[in-house]
Amino acid sequence: MSNKNDAKVAVITGGSRGIGRAICVELAKDGFYIIINFRSDDQAAADTLSMVRDNGGDGEISRFDVSSSGDVKKAIDEITGRFENIEVLVNNAGITADGLFMFMTEDEWDSVINTTLKGFYNITRPILEKMVGRKRGSIVSISSLSGLVGHRGQANYSAAKAGLIGTSRAIATEVARIGIRVNVVAPGLIETEMIKDVPKDFIKGAIPMARVGRPEEVARVVRFLCSEDASYITGQVISVNGGMY
Ligand code: NDP
Repeated sequence: MSNKNDAKVAVITGGSRGIGRAICVELAKDGFYIIINFRSDDQAAADTLSMVRDNGGDGEISRFDVSSSGDVKKAIDEITGRFENIEVLVNNAGITADGLFMFMTEDEWDSVINTTLKGFYNITRPILEKMVGRKRGSIVSISSLSGLVGHRGQANYSAAKAGLIGTSRAIATEVARIGIRVNVVAPGLIETEMIKDVPKDFIKGAIPMARVGRPEEVARVVRFLCSEDASYITGQVISVNGGMY
């Protein structure tokens, strides 16, 4: 079993449920000590930690809101104070607040942008600084098909997810020479709480594979990108969407 004294460390934002949970479990199989961030659901986070341990790994839970710069600073200072060897950061935390743009409130706009993009800044900048010091690391951010093509009713979400792609490509060019890789995974529709209200007949017609994806199908791509098998891949966006465009 990995432990915090000798293992390489992976931080996964929004790791308590859905895709984030699957990423925690997959990375645990590669020997990472898993830091499971979440915002509110303590039980889900504890369940994910149990699943990490059931898969031969170890880790801990860390509750903070990625959109709050003060909360993130406090948490990351504490984590980087204990762990020298953060090798992986997965920016997975995300929310939706859908509605047609002409009716979209400022709060709906800000909440999505702040969780995804401000959250990216809040946590990635200090962790990247540590990675630069050690000259190694892999950062993967979970975007969306919505950030690639733009989806009706998701102007805020499409903006945030497209922003993740732009910033990741920019940062990839800044740190590639010092051994740090920065990539993006863009899922289509994946079976989690987030899509519980999407009508099933829409799903069937819109996806060439005629089914939604499973969280593990996204997580395995993240695991690959964080591994040595992806040693020459940076600044890329990999879609996991069953052929849907
Ligand atoms: P879920 O809603 O199932 O899980 C979201 C996770 O993010 C939870 O762990 C939640 O924690 C956490 N979270 C939300 N806001 C914050 C915050 N401010 N700070 C810290 N943690 C937070 O989502 P999915 O698993 O479906 O989605 C994961 C990622 O994948 C998201 O970025 C999403 O946009 C993206 N995605 C999902 C798709 C899908 O079809 N499901 C498709 C394309 C992209 P808590 O429960 O404690 O609030």
